[in-house]
Amino acid sequence: MSGFTNEQAPITPPLSVEDFMRGEPAEIIGADQNPKILVVWPHGDEKLGPRLGHYMQTERPDLLQHVDYICGNPRAAAKEPSVRYVETDLNRSYKPQNGVPKSYEEKRAQRILEQIDDTGYDYVLDIHTSRSDVDRFFLANRRTAAVDAVIAASPIDRVVIMPDHIVDVSLIGRVPNAIALEYARSVPEEQGVEECTLIIDSLVSGVSQVKPHEREFFYVTRTIPRDDEPTNGRNFELCPEGYYPVIYGGINGGTYRNDPSKKYVGFAATSMERAIL
Ligand SMILES: [Zn+2]
Repeated sequence: MSGFTNEQAPITPPLSVEDFMRGEPAEIIGADQNPKILVVWPHGDEKLGPRLGHYMQTERPDLLQHVDYICGNPRAAAKEPSVRYVETDLNRSYKPQNGVPKSYEEKRAQRILEQIDDTGYDYVLDIHTSRSDVDRFFLANRRTAAVDAVIAASPIDRVVIMPDHIVDVSLIGRVPNAIALEYARSVPEEQGVEECTLIIDSLVSGVSQVKPHEREFFYVTRTIPRDDEPTNGRNFELCPEGYYPVIYGGINGGTYRNDPSKKYVGFAATSMERAIL
């Protein structure tokens, strides 16, 4: 007997979607059924990841048998207003100098990698909201079986394949089962939550609810420097300079243009191929 009755038990109010956006809870860990999936959102000022976490906890707790959830950067999310990161961009913090994490985000990255190592997730979904004028797309380091399974389970038709030398500091470069999802802020967040849930449901059941169809794979080879921008560059459209700009903000803004730690304004995909998935 614990000595507590129901009347005496402390009452914990359910966490709201605003709590999730402020980084609370920092983690929901408890998946004990295969396949196992990790949902992580690294940037403190992005809203799709916390919305998905709140949705699973309140509407689809059954999914938490398979899905663990991590707010990558609780400190950045808790700022008022929330910020992308506090010391170093978490998504560039997965390979600290000399292997020793120093910044807050480098320590968080190490914690996330340890959780991934310990649990051995079948799939890692790295959830982002983008300031670029794009609809929605995936980012991966290469096409692994896990990456292809996530793409096949989704209605998203564009995939950006990033080279080792750019993403060796990022989650997708360190974890072969990881794939990033980028949703433009203009896409309604309800749609993002619905599509992420569709992907998770398909991965859990092993049966995709999306018919195989043509997808576009854009192969990035380099960054777009601030002083060498494409003429009338538009994301995913071949520019006169002979490449496809991706995650490119255009002259009016964009995630990277407004970030003084970045020497580039986007990435250049120098080839594109189509595949049925
Ligand atoms: Zn992000």
